[in-house]
Amino acid sequence: MATAELSERETGNLMEKIVSLAKRRGFFFQSSEIYGGIQGIWDYGPLGVALRNNIKRAWWRTNVELRDDVVGIDAGILMNPRVWVASGHVQNFTDPLVECKKCHQRFRADQVSGPRHEEDGGEFTEAQQFNLMFKTFMGPVENSSTQVYLRPETAQGIFVNFANILTSTRLRPPFGIAQIGKAFRNEITPGNSIFRMREFEQMELEYFCRAEEGMKLLEYWKEERLKFYEDIGIARDKLHVLTVPDEGRAFYSKGTYDIEYDFPFGRQELEGVAYRTDYDLSQHQKASGKSLEYFDEETKQKFIPHVVEPSAGVDRTVLALICEAYTEDEAPDDKGKMETRTVLRFHPRMAPIKCAVFPLLKNKEDLVAKAKAIVDLLRPHMFVFYDESGAIGRRYRRQDEIGTPFGITVDFETLGEKGAELRDTVTLRERDSMKQQRVAIKDLANILVSRIS
Ligand code: ATP
Repeated sequence: MATAELSERETGNLMEKIVSLAKRRGFFFQSSEIYGGIQGIWDYGPLGVALRNNIKRAWWRTNVELRDDVVGIDAGILMNPRVWVASGHVQNFTDPLVECKKCHQRFRADQVSGPRHEEDGGEFTEAQQFNLMFKTFMGPVENSSTQVYLRPETAQGIFVNFANILTSTRLRPPFGIAQIGKAFRNEITPGNSIFRMREFEQMELEYFCRAEEGMKLLEYWKEERLKFYEDIGIARDKLHVLTVPDEGRAFYSKGTYDIEYDFPFGRQELEGVAYRTDYDLSQHQKASGKSLEYFDEETKQKFIPHVVEPSAGVDRTVLALICEAYTEDEAPDDKGKMETRTVLRFHPRMAPIKCAVFPLLKNKEDLVAKAKAIVDLLRPHMFVFYDESGAIGRRYRRQDEIGTPFGITVDFETLGEKGAELRDTVTLRERDSMKQQRVAIKDLANILVSRIS
């Protein structure tokens, strides 16, 4: 479903449908909903957490485990507050904020059109810089000396551990340090469900190199990251690369790309890939007084490495995958009448549940026992779901709606009641085509593993 072909009402509807499906089936919920919610915070349900884990695992596998030159870390959310002075966040991590003089609602100045509030005509105040970092206190005394910040990005945990990684591993530039973890930003206007949140998760990689390699590696990582999104099931023609113009880049960055996705509400950033020069390490070296140089034994040269940073959001990737997967088509119900079918066409590798197993009837002991034996057979290889309730068509439909790529039905043929040649075979149904084939139970694990990997 190309976004360009949808009217504004349809795209609005599409987001409504997606958010309602997410809630109905347990992908994500508004946080603290029974108390009226809390703006910008979302909780993930059973399917959402499975999808997130698949995304994070794919990112970690691609960027850490399958490479010789990248290692992982997991740093604290709270850090010495001097980190955020050195990094520039205390001074500069701000958005311009305006307030409507009539209704006192606040907005990001770069997200309003014109000098007045469209809804009530109220004049906006002059823009003020608003720092997006959340603050809290460490220890029993609450004053400015005990104030700490919830990290607004995971990257600084990598920079301040640079020397620890150098001495504890035998890595030499170019090499990277990767981290996945929570970040917090007091966004002025969170919105579009999990697109812009106040608590979210990032997947960041800092790839350290020599100055002369920076621009080339920026291109390399942009391409690697595009490949990743394609690998997890996002169509290449829905992904776009924006070259961030000089005025949109941090002053120290020599080049930044935004990887954007065509969300139903417009083309928006999924990930930033930035060549940050040696800014971060230089700043921390200056502020901490500790050397963050690399000494090259061969050339006897000392230098502060430059860095290229691909920085992705877990939650935005979840939303992109759901938007990409959401489809409606027509399929016959149990009586053969055509009805609208909602399907999440996830790539099998990303699908929260890989396979559902159904006994044709729940009150036939032999069918149930056989189906449960198949669950036991497949469970060591993948996330399997067992369902015995309702008509078989309804059960298929429930799995289609959450993107389960395969369904297995155990019927009387399986028990050998319709001929010996069909004994110990099952129906394997494919989600997208709805095609069914007869497969021997002993071949199931091999067939499914090869199709979900
Ligand atoms: P935006 O311009 O949308 O505010 P940004 O350019 O400030 O994003 P970065 O600082 O580059 O974002 O963060 C890297 C990635 O972290 C983003 O591409 C996005 O995937 C994710 N991210 C940033 N802010 C949020 C947020 N408030 N909610 C969810 N994900 C976020």
